[in-house]
Amino acid sequence: MQFTQRKVRLTEMTAETYFPDTSTLSDPKVLEALSALMSNARLAARWGGLSPAARQAHQAILQAFLADGAPPPISQFSAETLADLGRRDLVHARGGEIALAYPFSTRPTDFLVRVGGVKVHAICAVDALGTAAMAREPAEVTCLCPTCRARVSLGVLADGLTLDHASEPDPRVWTGVKDVGACAADTQCKSMLLFCSPDHLDAWKRSQPPSARGFDLSLAQGVRLGAATFRPFLQAPAKGAAP
Ligand SMILES: [Zn+2]
Repeated sequence: MQFTQRKVRLTEMTAETYFPDTSTLSDPKVLEALSALMSNARLAARWGGLSPAARQAHQAILQAFLADGAPPPISQFSAETLADLGRRDLVHARGGEIALAYPFSTRPTDFLVRVGGVKVHAICAVDALGTAAMAREPAEVTCLCPTCRARVSLGVLADGLTLDHASEPDPRVWTGVKDVGACAADTQCKSMLLFCSPDHLDAWKRSQPPSARGFDLSLAQGVRLGAATFRPFLQAPAKGAAP
């Protein structure tokens, strides 16, 4: 169990707000995609003013996924805290178990991440690509192309930003912009996909309604988008120094 090694110190115990970490984003297309996915209203509803209990529970759940590949027993958390995390669309329970906590899912998906010897499914392509930044560890990601079901594998270094290798020369990350509703995993994440090639993204786009909106990102851009989204989740609270 590597939980202790990965545990992030919680130094501040005041309500706080997660913000996407845009410090490493200079690419206008990635910034545009991020702001399309994370409207201010959505950010406030989802990440604004987290209580210390909710923040602590959220981080404990993510740390357990990283340590064990699975969430902790639901009994460790108060119903009130879980309801709050559910309303914020950060953690969802199903059938008396924690079922998902972005970026991770207990259900098999097309996005598998291997980090620190643990395998865990990510909810969508951007979640998978952002895991290294969140964990501050190298991650091996395997995605299935929605068009041909070919396996695309890639590595992201512990800085969460640097691509180590990729099995295809130009995989494309499609980030669809949709009305999210109560649970992004059921809506938005269904259109955050990783394709083996530009051709296979084009083929998929032709099968979609003409009104479908989204961003066609390179793998490097997708990694940066994922890092900006997920790095804050296990970061020490705003006033504390980042580890
Ligand atoms: Zn393909």
